[in-house]
Amino acid sequence: MIQAVCHCGAARLTAPAFAEVTECNCSICRRLGARWAHYSPKDVTLPDPQTTQLYVWGDRMLAFHRCKSCGVATHWQSLDGSRDRMAVNARLVDGVDWTSLRIRQFDGADTWRYLDEA
Ligand SMILES: [Zn+2]
Repeated sequence: MIQAVCHCGAARLTAPAFAEVTECNCSICRRLGARWAHYSPKDVTLPDPQTTQLYVWGDRMLAFHRCKSCGVATHWQSLDGSRDRMAVNARLVDGVDWTSLRIRQFDGADTWRYLDEA
């Protein structure tokens, strides 16, 4: 299991270890600089809702969460909870050996495909 912790320590998520992460070039992800580890929400222990704020825009499908205190982006999930997919910001995990992981590039800005897929 891994633990993702914001800078001040208020917001914490626990999830299974990941072998690959995704960088996305969409307008929000590139600004956040996040590396996302994707999960089913049922596999993730979310932070206390009191510790995070939501950012929702566009088609209002996804909620990007950040720590209310230190502002670090922690995860995204579907706004209504209906989607069986979410992502944890793997940048918040201590001690990650990035050289041992697959870092995938997702073209969220345009084609909505992984750029490393043929
Ligand atoms: Zn914090």
